[in-house]
This record gives sequence, C-alpha cells and structure tokens, in this order.
Amino acid sequence: MGKHLIVHYGELGLKGGNKGYFEDVLKRNLMRVLRDIGVKTQINYILGRFIVRIPAEFDEKVICEAVGLVAGIEYFLIAQMVELDFDKISKALVDSIARIKDGKYETFNVRIKKSQETLPFERLKSEKEFGAALLVNEIDLKVKMKEPDLPIIVECFADKAYIAFGKKPGLGGLPVGTGGKLLCLLSSGFDSPVAAFKMMRRGARVDFIHFSGQPYSKKDELNQVQKIAKILTKYQGESKLIVIPFGKIQKELSMNTGVPKKLLVVLYRRLMLKIAEKAAYRFRAKALITGESFGQVASQTLKNMVAIDRSIDFPVFRPLIGFDKREIIDESRKIGTHDISALPCTDTCSLFMPKSPEVAASLEEVLEAEKHIDIGGIIQESIDRQMDVQKLS
Ligand code: ATP
Ligand code: MG
Repeated sequence: MGKHLIVHYGELGLKGGNKGYFEDVLKRNLMRVLRDIGVKTQINYILGRFIVRIPAEFDEKVICEAVGLVAGIEYFLIAQMVELDFDKISKALVDSIARIKDGKYETFNVRIKKSQETLPFERLKSEKEFGAALLVNEIDLKVKMKEPDLPIIVECFADKAYIAFGKKPGLGGLPVGTGGKLLCLLSSGFDSPVAAFKMMRRGARVDFIHFSGQPYSKKDELNQVQKIAKILTKYQGESKLIVIPFGKIQKELSMNTGVPKKLLVVLYRRLMLKIAEKAAYRFRAKALITGESFGQVASQTLKNMVAIDRSIDFPVFRPLIGFDKREIIDESRKIGTHDISALPCTDTCSLFMPKSPEVAASLEEVLEAEKHIDIGGIIQESIDRQMDVQKLS
C-alpha cells in the first residue's frame, strides 16, 4: 500500500500577496528532489499543504533525506490515508502500531489536526476517544501527554484522514530561488560553506568563487572545495563554481618591495573581494557572502575587517559574524560539509603569509601599499584570462 508525504511550510505563509509565487517555487524545489530519487507522482496543493502519493516501493528514509534538503519546509509527515471514520482510523492505527512497535515504544498520545471546522471529530474529545480505542486493543503502550515515544498524528483535510507517527522537522527558512542570486567566497574551511548554506536557507541562490593557491598549493585543495560545493549544490539543484588561480598573485605581492609584509593578509583579502565583485557583476549576483566571524583570526579583528570591507563598493553579507567557531562546526556537521572541511590541506591562507600579520591595519597604510600594486591589471587578468567556471548539479 502506498503512503502520502504531507509537507507543511512555515514562514512563507506570511508572504501576503507573494504567497502564490513562494508556493510555486517551493513546489518546484520539492519536485526536483523527489524526481532525483525516482518519485514521479504529482504534487498536489490542498488547503495550505502539499501532498504527494508515494508508491509503496520507496524507502521512507530516502524520502526523508530528500525532503530534508528543501528549504522553506517547516515539517512533514509520511502518512497513511484512511477514510474519515472513527472505527476505520482506529483499526488502521492498531494495525500500524502492531507492525512498527517491535518493543521500541512505551508511551503514546494522539493529536488531531483539522483544516476545516466542518470535518468530524472534536479535537480534545476525539483525541481521548482515539486513545481509549487503542488502549482497548491492547497495544501495550501507556498514554503520555508530553513528549511520548510514539506521537500519533491524525491529520484531517479534504474528506480524508491521514495517520502518521511523529512529525519530521524540515529545514525551515524560505525556498531557494525566491531571494535572488548571491556569490559566496568559498574556501575549504568550516566557515564559508556554512555561510553559503545560511543564505540559501533564506531563499538565495548561491554561486561560489574560490581563490586557489595553485600552482603553489596541492591539488587536494581544489578537490576539497569542489566536494564542498557539490554538497551545497544538493540544497539548490545546480550552481557554478568559479575558480581563480591566486597563488601567483600572492607570491608577487609577497615579493613586492613597496608592500609592508605585515599587511599582506589584509591586501590578499581586499584583492579577493575586488575580483569577486567583478565576477558578481559578470554572473549577475547582487551581493557577496563570506564566512567571516568577528575576532576569529588575525584578518577578522575590527580594524582589519574595516580595512577589508572598504575595498569595494558592493554589498558583502557575513551571516556568521556573531557565531562562535563551535557553533559553526556543529552547523557544518548538520549540513554535511564537516568531514571535508576537517581534512588537512594547504589552502591559500597558509601560502606566502607574513610571520607576524598586522592586527590593526589602518586604511591609510593599506591604500598607500596598494599604490605599488597594479590592481586593475590583476583583476582584469583574473577575470578575462585565468577564471575557470565549472557547472555543478
Ligand atoms: P573559512 O573557514 O571559511 O576558510 P577562515 O576562518 O579560514 O574561514 P579566513 O581565512 O580569514 O577565515 O577567511 C575569511 C573568509 O574569506 C572565508 O570565510 C571565505 O569566505 C573567504 N576566503 C578565504 N580564503 C578564501 C579562498 N581561498 N577562496 C575563496 N574565499 C576565501
Ligand atoms: Mg580559511
């Protein structure tokens, strides 16, 4: 017997006049992940939720993993459809409990969710009656009102009841694609992948730009960034990874006698932003994202961040600015990038670095140093000749 996937969305319920558009995008995104695992049935919209018939051969775990990739979903249920009739619902529950119980659960409760007041069942009264009907059938579970092992949900809408055991939390946020395009400066560290994810979850579509240490870094650096970008792409279907060779630029800057060594870190970051800004114009991204977190490393002191921020006249979003490293690492585990970010690698950050970087760069010093660098030439060469664009899906 087939099941039904019922998807509830949260925040986009608040979007007023744009609600239809948000629902359409969410439906499209949901359809993409379901198609990817081979579910080809129609997605129907009924009274504020999406419902999809899932053929019997599909594993629930695979469905949950796929739906868990879609931003904009508050929670979802894998449910069995039953006639809207007290005895039929009770019987279906007793049968299902016998099938899934396997000594795993001790307590239960029943919650009814109705979308139309005209449907049968008075919520509190019927919840008790369903509970009593189950107990009579010796299901060998005790009632527990708060946080039972087996929360039973009877959701009623459009003349049917849907029974499910527990709600699965969705990603939350807003559907990817409703918020326009951003470009994330992506490294293989923990921070920038989490920053990119956070903005996707707020509805942005994100492309990636990576500054590779090549030819001075090992190939594994680029591999790791590609793997991370691929994982992030699962949340939005497709993306571009723009790779800019940066090793030679760093080497030249580090040998430039007009440039104080202690300023190199700030100068590298400013150049990255300037090149990323040009790439953003080219690929129509409206703002940049970085994984910077206040005070985390030498380049992220207040003065250095200000000096870096002043390098371009283009918006830069820093979703992790107030996060602790621990919180960022925990988040990277949830989104699936942790294990790759944890691998050792020679990234650009460790190449051509001064022994004691400045922690309080002044903008005047930085601008003075930049007079000795052909910034326009470097940007043009990077964008027009060195840039490599990879499509991921
Ligand atoms: P991450 O964990 O994201 O590497 P980090 O803690 O190492 O960050 P920094 O090295 O100062 O911090 O980098 C700050 C931000 O600059 C990164 O989060 C990322 O957005 C960007 N960045 C740093 N190095 C690169 C690179 N090689 N390519 C693209 N972006 C980079
Ligand atoms: Mg880094």
